[in-house]
Amino acid sequence: MRPSFKIWRAVLDKYVEMRRNLTEKFLGSLSLEPPYSAPVTAVIHCYAKARFEKLYGPQQLIPQRTAVLMGSVFELAVKVLLEGYPPPHHYSYKVYRSEDGFEFTLHAAPDLVLDNEVVELKFTTAPLENLPMDHHEMQLKLYMNVYGMPGRLIYLTPSGVREYGYGLEEALPDGEVIKLGREFFLEKRSPRYEWECQYCPYRSMCPLAISKREQERT
Ligand code: SF4
Repeated sequence: MRPSFKIWRAVLDKYVEMRRNLTEKFLGSLSLEPPYSAPVTAVIHCYAKARFEKLYGPQQLIPQRTAVLMGSVFELAVKVLLEGYPPPHHYSYKVYRSEDGFEFTLHAAPDLVLDNEVVELKFTTAPLENLPMDHHEMQLKLYMNVYGMPGRLIYLTPSGVREYGYGLEEALPDGEVIKLGREFFLEKRSPRYEWECQYCPYRSMCPLAISKREQERT
């Protein structure tokens, strides 16, 4: 017996190719200057992180944690099982305008669009009692607004699975989407959630980073 790196190398090649394609789409729809434009996955997270990625390119092509790899495998497996291979890329966008002239485009790429519902797939090691998570609900409710459809959040965890359905009336209202857009593009909120910094590849050189100790103090 000898250690080898044949199959995992092949998996890594495919994984990096997939991540690179997704990142190109992410960066292609991100404009932090007017005319403002961003994917849903950017506006629900830290502005500074999105800015770093725009400036320096993707830092997370290689999965940093096994849970991240598990998440990608779960997502791909469900998509292929339900939609075949290669699974379609679901995409839509919507322009939001406030009365004072603030305007931005939001790009939505849900994991699945099935039976007139947008569906988001999540793998997490969090305990079942912590589900659904706020930022996952926020992401889904933004997709629901852009698509004008009900939504569904699907979880796989080491302890079991969960599924949550949301009616169209639970989509994030336009006024709330515009508020979120202001916090991101104009207020440059960084980070959006304190826990984000613990998982961020830029934390070693980001002056806005919140350390674990600071996070525990709040
Ligand atoms: S370290 Fe924190 S504040 Fe800095 S870019 Fe990352 S998430 Fe944002």
